Amino acid sequence: AKHAGRNRFAFFTEKMQATSTRALTLSNALHDALEQNEFSLHYQPQVSLISGKVIGAEALIRWHSKKLGHVSPGEFIPLAEESGQILAIGEWVVRTAVRQIQQWIEAGITPVRIAVNLSSAQFQVGDLPKTTIKILNEYRIPVEYLELELTERIVAKDPEHTVIILESLQELGIRTSIDDFGTGYSSLSYLQRFSVYKLKIDQSFVRNMTTNTNDQVIIGTIILLAQQLGMTTIAEGVETKAQLDMLNNIGCDDIQGYYISRPIPAEAFKKAYLENKQR
Ligand code: C2E
Ligand code: CA
Ligand code: CA
Ligand code: CA
Repeated sequence: AKHAGRNRFAFFTEKMQATSTRALTLSNALHDALEQNEFSLHYQPQVSLISGKVIGAEALIRWHSKKLGHVSPGEFIPLAEESGQILAIGEWVVRTAVRQIQQWIEAGITPVRIAVNLSSAQFQVGDLPKTTIKILNEYRIPVEYLELELTERIVAKDPEHTVIILESLQELGIRTSIDDFGTGYSSLSYLQRFSVYKLKIDQSFVRNMTTNTNDQVIIGTIILLAQQLGMTTIAEGVETKAQLDMLNNIGCDDIQGYYISRPIPAEAFKKAYLENKQR
């Protein structure tokens, strides 16, 4: 048994070392990624279950490294958060989304609202409302075209600070939503103090909802909660018609997921979802 234990230990350290070597390689490449113009945004449509229309898009960052090829945000965002690079990357994301809206408007197309993901560092620096407004003004884009997504983890870190930032965002007219709702530890007592527009029901509840009654109950409860607090709901990770129908029946407002579309480049998004709406 002692021998097996030692082997297992050797295995673990090797794996840990491989992980940290990869992390180091990524961190180094990440350092130049902004300068090298290696990031882009993909857009995933959000559809209203009432009207059947595309009412928005979530912007998701993509990194094509010249050295390493495609790296998923799930892998590099945590590293960028650790190194502090997320502040510059986060501002690039907001700027790129806002510039995209401007390009659509200039092309005579009616844009849809774009939701961008925020990391906790962006929330902690405190000038988030000011920077966001500055960028919107720079491109002369009305506030209603932008939405900011924050996770429950951000909220849990410092609820008092979150309440203040959310209030000033609301005063400025910038919409916010709580991402991955139901997976974190945000206290429900705070929810009523949050000036949040929308709850995003996490895809882990949607995945098995058609067969798992617990997940159905959780989703139903989130929707009721949102309705009581005057918030909108969107379910993410919707992959089937059966999920869509069930969400529609229990009163979910909007959906997002592969059943509608994967996240796609701006040009493809424009062709598929915006051009037929041209004024
Ligand atoms: P998230 O914000 O929860 O985004 C949803 C993720 O689920 C995206 O993965 C999306 O491509 C994927 N997804 C969408 N529909 C479906 C579906 O029907 N089925 C399944 N299985 N997956 C679906 P992605 O693009 O790999 O992003 C992963 C995470 O990386 C995001 O999770 C978000 O936390 C983070 N992220 C992405 N872009 C940004 C960004 O610009 N800034 C920050 N701070 N984080 C970002
Ligand atoms: Ca998100
Ligand atoms: Ca999410
Ligand atoms: Ca997530």
